[in-house]
Amino acid sequence: MAQVKLRDVSKVFKKSLVVDGVNLDIADGEFVVLVGPSGCGKSTTLNMIAGLESVTSGDIEIGNRVVTSLPPKDRRVAMVFQSYALYPHMTVAENLGFGLKVSRVEPAEITRRVAAVAESLAIEALLGRKPRELSGGQRQRVALGRAIVRDPAVFLLDEPLSNLDAQLRGQMRVELKQLQERLRATVVHVTHDQVEAMTLGSRIVVMQGGRIQQVGAPLDVYDHPANQFVARFIGSPPMNLVRCRLERDADTSLLRADGFALGVSPRNRTLIELSGEAEVVVGVRPEHVAVIEGTAVGVQWPLMPASITVVEPLGNQTQLSLSVGKLTLGAVVPADRRFRPRQSVQVFVDPSRALLFDAGEGGDAIC
Ligand code: ADP
Ligand code: MG
Repeated sequence: MAQVKLRDVSKVFKKSLVVDGVNLDIADGEFVVLVGPSGCGKSTTLNMIAGLESVTSGDIEIGNRVVTSLPPKDRRVAMVFQSYALYPHMTVAENLGFGLKVSRVEPAEITRRVAAVAESLAIEALLGRKPRELSGGQRQRVALGRAIVRDPAVFLLDEPLSNLDAQLRGQMRVELKQLQERLRATVVHVTHDQVEAMTLGSRIVVMQGGRIQQVGAPLDVYDHPANQFVARFIGSPPMNLVRCRLERDADTSLLRADGFALGVSPRNRTLIELSGEAEVVVGVRPEHVAVIEGTAVGVQWPLMPASITVVEPLGNQTQLSLSVGKLTLGAVVPADRRFRPRQSVQVFVDPSRALLFDAGEGGDAIC
C-alpha cells in the first residue's frame, strides 16, 4: 500500500475552475472520504488521482513517486465505480481475472488469485454466473473483488454504495470497513452521503465549490465545524444556524434574534467583541435544543416560548420542528417523550453547547 499526496491540484473544464488548489496528504493504510454536495469536484479529484483526468496544475504523488503525467495503468491504483462497470458477457470469474489477463499474468496464477479473492468476499458460489444474474450487493462485491485481485497500491472508490437500497448499503458499509482493515488498504472513497462519510472515514475531507472546506476525524468535524457550510452539511437533521446580535448590560449578556435568546459566557462575549462584528451566527445541534413542557421554573435561563409545528417519530428518537418567534428550530428528543403539533413548550440552549460563527456569508467558526 502507499501514501497519496495532492499538491495544489486544480482542474479547469471549459474555463470553469471545478477543483481549486487542493492540498491533501493521505497516509499509507488510511481510509479517507471525500464528501460534499453533487458537483463540488469529488469525482474530478478522484479521477485526477487515477489518471483518468489530467490535472490543469499541481502535482500528485503515490507512494513517494510523482505520477502526475503517468497513465492510469502505471499508477498502481484500482477504481470502483457506482455503476460497477462489470463486463456483461463475462462470468464473475472472467470479470475478476480480466485485468490480470490483460497484464499477461500466468493463467494458473490468475485462477489462484481469483479463487483467493472470491473466498475473501464470500462470492465463490457466484464465479460461474453472469452479472445480470447477480443482485446489486453481489455485483458490488464483484466490482470490489476486481479491484482487490490486482493488488493495487491505492483503492479509489466513487460512490460505490449509492446504487444499493438503504439496508444493503448499511451492510456493505460494515463489510467495506472490515475489508479495508483486513487489507490495511489505502482507500480514497467519494460520497455525497454524510452518514457514509462519518461512518467509514478515519478522516473526512469536506468539499464545496471545488475547494476543501475542512479535513479531520469525523467527530472532530461534527463537534468543531470550520465554517457555516460544514456546520450545515455534516449532521442530520442539520445544525440550526441563527443570526444574532449581542445585547449586554453590566452583568448579563445575551445573544438575541427574533424570539431566540442565548446566554453568553464571559469568554464568548470577549471573543465576539474581539471579532468586531455587530452580529454573529449561533450554531446549535438539534440534540442540544432542550424542549421543556409545562411551566418549569428553575435554573435554566433564558427560556424561549415556542410552539411545535411538526413531530417526526423515528422509533429510536423523535425529530421536532419548533416555531420560536419568526424562526424555525429543529430539535431531537428521546422517543419516549410524546409531543403533538401546536403544543406550546419552552426551549433552552445551554451556552456551552452553542457554536459561534462569523456572520458573513458562509462565515468561519469564531469558537
Ligand atoms: P461531484 O463528483 O462532486 O458531483 P464532479 O467532479 O463530477 O462533481 O464535477 C465537478 C464539476 O465539474 C461539475 O460542475 C461538473 O458539471 C463539471 N464537470 C465534470 N466533468 C466534466 C467534463 N468532462 N467536462 C466539463 N465539465 C465537467
Ligand atoms: Mg461524482
